[in-house]
Amino acid sequence: KLYNEVQDLKGNIRVYCRIRPFLPGQNQNHSTIEFAGEDGELIVSNPLKQGKDSRKLFKFNKVFGQAASQEEVFRDTQPLIRSVLDGYNVCIFAYGQTGAGKTYTMQIKYCFLDLHTLGIWNTTQPNGLAVPDASMHSVNSMTDVLELMNIGMTNRATSATALNERSSRSHSVLSIHVRGTDLKTNTLLRGCLHLVDLAGSERVDRSEATGDRLKEAQHINKSLSALGDVIFALAQKSSHVPYRNSKLTQLLQSSLGGQAKTLMFVQLNPDVASYSETISTLKFAERVS
Ligand code: ADP
Ligand code: MG
Repeated sequence: KLYNEVQDLKGNIRVYCRIRPFLPGQNQNHSTIEFAGEDGELIVSNPLKQGKDSRKLFKFNKVFGQAASQEEVFRDTQPLIRSVLDGYNVCIFAYGQTGAGKTYTMQIKYCFLDLHTLGIWNTTQPNGLAVPDASMHSVNSMTDVLELMNIGMTNRATSATALNERSSRSHSVLSIHVRGTDLKTNTLLRGCLHLVDLAGSERVDRSEATGDRLKEAQHINKSLSALGDVIFALAQKSSHVPYRNSKLTQLLQSSLGGQAKTLMFVQLNPDVASYSETISTLKFAERVS
């Protein structure tokens, strides 16, 4: 097997933290990140508040600091992605408030190049997809994949505009079904990779949001907390896993739990203006990790 990492006691769920760098124009003196350790320790505080009692410690399987490159992150994730070729189902999520680097981290064409070189592209038959308007396509090359991703992203942007001008909050799920033959044993292997760029986790001010926007926000919060509940139940090895509470968890059910492998990137914006969202993102992560 290509994937032979020792599984920790939590089983197949890992939670990584990634902090995005300051962007031009952001005040770098006001970082909420006090310490980001390679062993997975993260210390967060509010630099505008006096007193050290505001320091909070969190523990992840790994923390990628602001200097971490895409290559570094990819190198770490590659064995997990490769395990799809061994017939595993894999889910990779990016969670965090808007602007925290979810899409940046999920820019996954780097990952695909590797699968492509292995030359095992094929789709399975559509299999009870629970999402209206979702479709499945056969691909033969990297170009095919990128084309489909572009169509998906255009659709996402268009429907966001059609629903509400200010709204761009939606989950984006790219599922890749791989089928191949294990040449040694001549058996059929099927694996599935789900790449999930979650909708921004920020709370929407009730006084500001009305009508469709409020409904949409409530919907997103509901599906994010349903996802949290599922991952929490799996991490606890609970006998009941509440998959049925959202479309998202229903869709991903066969790839969450069991033999499936799950990786959640918890994305943080280091700016002090994001402090309270950072804390609520970390509270979510604390529950599932
Ligand atoms: P999100 O998808 O969570 O809303 P984005 O991925 O769009 O956030 O990131 C917001 C901005 O920050 C983008 O301009 C993106 O290019 C930049 N960014 C995010 N992460 C990084 C990073 N690790 N290194 C450099 N720029 C980044
Ligand atoms: Mg995004």
